[in-house]
Amino acid sequence: MLRVAVPNKGSLAEEAARLLRDAGYRQRRDIRELTLVDADNDVEFFYLRPRDIAVYVGEGTLDVGLTGRDLLQDSGAHATELLALGFGAARLHFAAPPGDVAEVSDLRGRRVATSYAGVVEGHLRRIGVAASVVRLDGAVESAVRLGVADAIADLVSTGTTLRAAGLAVVGDPILESEAVLVIRDGAAEPAGLSVFERRLQGVLVARAYVMMDYDIRTEQLEEAVALTPGIESPTISPLHREGWVAVRAMVPRNSAQRVMDALWLLGARGTLMSDVLACRL
Ligand code: AMP
Repeated sequence: MLRVAVPNKGSLAEEAARLLRDAGYRQRRDIRELTLVDADNDVEFFYLRPRDIAVYVGEGTLDVGLTGRDLLQDSGAHATELLALGFGAARLHFAAPPGDVAEVSDLRGRRVATSYAGVVEGHLRRIGVAASVVRLDGAVESAVRLGVADAIADLVSTGTTLRAAGLAVVGDPILESEAVLVIRDGAAEPAGLSVFERRLQGVLVARAYVMMDYDIRTEQLEEAVALTPGIESPTISPLHREGWVAVRAMVPRNSAQRVMDALWLLGARGTLMSDVLACRL
């Protein structure tokens, strides 16, 4: 049975459970459940603190885990990324009161508060800036106002939290994070992993595409197909109406509305866009 670590709380927990459900796995209904066996799919899920997941996987106690790249790197665990999961994107940034610290080199000799001490110390060492790192567990954005640090290093998603605390980003991102599937360094492939990974990948691809259906005059078919080439090739079906055909193709979700606009101008009618739940390419 494949043993999978899943975040039990925090920003990644909900999206991780949704991904697993969409991939056809049972997920716990009650947050007090610590483990869940999905016997039909031969997988056991272990709900753990997000920060601990890479540690369990790195020790080989569990086969794979869903966690953040930030937490993986900060843990120093012997685990590596297998697959990026397309959610939980955030950047780890230095930030300070505007005007005080204009660039990263201004951090020299200053105190930087963070809950990612491992990543931040490694980064400062690499860029040769000697600053002292103050380890905090969270709510790092208050550290400057409360006087324990001169700057912070924290995850930024929209930037709202930073602005509200009167801080501004300094320099380039230290780390670009997102949710990832991790496995122990050098581990032999555990039984059931390839099916598990293929299912997650199927959901990720399905989320990146929509299915588009439309009717078009045969004279415009080639131009229309150039707009919607699909993945393999679009399906063309005859229509009862003379001189028209129906086309069905997968279209990248992020350009789907633009493709619809262009198809309309080309004379396509009855255009339908639908979600794809899962797919195998
Ligand atoms: P924002 O105000 O959207 O920039 O969010 C910043 C706050 O949310 C900070 O307190 C971060 O620590 C936290 N945060 C943002 N994105 C993530 C993420 N992907 N994983 C964990 N915490 C995050």
